[in-house]
Amino acid sequence: MKVDYIVVGLGLAGLAFVEELIQANKTFLVFEDDSQTSSLVAGGVYNPVVLKKFTAVWKASEQLNLAMLFYEKLEKKLNQKFDEKFVIKRVFKSVEEQKKWSIASDNSLLKQFLNPNIEINKITGVVGNFGFGNVNQTGRIDTLKLVKSYRKLLIDNNLIRFDKFEHQKLNISLENVTYKDIACNNVVFCEGFGIKENPFFNYLPLEEAKGELLIIHAPKLNINFLLKSSLFLIPLGDNNYKVGATFNHSDKTLTPTEKGKSELIEKLKNVINVPYEIIEQSAGIRPTTNDRRPFVGVHNQYPRLAVLNGLGTRGVMVAPSMAKNLYNLLDKGENLDVEIDIKRFN
Ligand SMILES: Cc1cc2nc3c(=O)[nH]c(=O)nc-3n(C[C@H](O)[C@H](O)[C@H](O)COP(=O)(O)OP(=O)(O)OC[C@H]3O[C@@H](n4cnc5c(N)ncnc54)[C@H](O)[C@@H]3O)c2cc1C
Repeated sequence: MKVDYIVVGLGLAGLAFVEELIQANKTFLVFEDDSQTSSLVAGGVYNPVVLKKFTAVWKASEQLNLAMLFYEKLEKKLNQKFDEKFVIKRVFKSVEEQKKWSIASDNSLLKQFLNPNIEINKITGVVGNFGFGNVNQTGRIDTLKLVKSYRKLLIDNNLIRFDKFEHQKLNISLENVTYKDIACNNVVFCEGFGIKENPFFNYLPLEEAKGELLIIHAPKLNINFLLKSSLFLIPLGDNNYKVGATFNHSDKTLTPTEKGKSELIEKLKNVINVPYEIIEQSAGIRPTTNDRRPFVGVHNQYPRLAVLNGLGTRGVMVAPSMAKNLYNLLDKGENLDVEIDIKRFN
């Protein structure tokens, strides 16, 4: 079998790269072994503002615009709804924070996103004495639904194998790369935290940040926005809410823990004051980087091997533009922005 590309991993990164390939009429085969869960459990929030410090996210407008077009196109293609537009309400903890918000909302990079008005009304069930600030152009992608339906599309077209990709079985020559029965021009690794088992790219300083989430049912809570306090609360409908997430930099397992659950329950006391029941708990490892920039580029010795990783806490917004950059490098020889290029680690 001969294809243009092998893509390893079908989370948000792999999916975005495959979309580039389909658009360019390239042939490909995906390998997926269900060893990572980040894209399946993610909150799915897209938000161009750092809500701790009230600063703009790196390349916020550029990435957001591209991402919105990307998900809109996928909704049409798969005939399903993935994107739910929500305002984010940031709970203020003090008068000081209100003042910072007012200043930030006047900043040229943030103006389009931050509503300058401080909302002082109380919201039933929500803890907060200092009001809320509204962030616009935000929402949530149902990443689980998206990845599942995308995988189905690939299954129906014989474009995915549910097998662990065994790196040691790669044969790399100047002309091409072969893997078992397949010959291809390039292999693109989109393995998330699975990169740690990739002998070609495990030198990259990917850091794990395990995150745990709860789904709760809170019949007396009736909010139709994303609530950002010490946690995110994401409405799922029928008074169900996704709540999260924790950050753990030492646990590399995908198992939900009692510790994670207790931490979320404890924090939730300061977020809502209505009864709730826990319906589900999930966990995943965010592929984060210490310079907060993705890992994009090709191996310095084997340029037919490429990587798309390090999407961090904002995979929903970042994946489409990073996939485009990588495709343009591989197919058109366009240079990468030095900030994202893995050459920075050579
Ligand atoms: C709790 C939590 C909450 C989050 N919330 C948000 C949020 O609200 N908004 C947001 O934008 N981001 C969020 N994120 C981050 C987001 O999930 C990630 O940035 C994104 O999912 C990373 O995508 P990825 O494709 O790089 O990695 P992954 O989703 O990990 O995908 C990698 C894929 O590669 C496969 N794989 C790995 N090795 C192999 C191999 N050898 N062979 C075959 N297949 C392999 C894995 O099984 C996996 O499917 C959250 C993450 C977590 C954990």
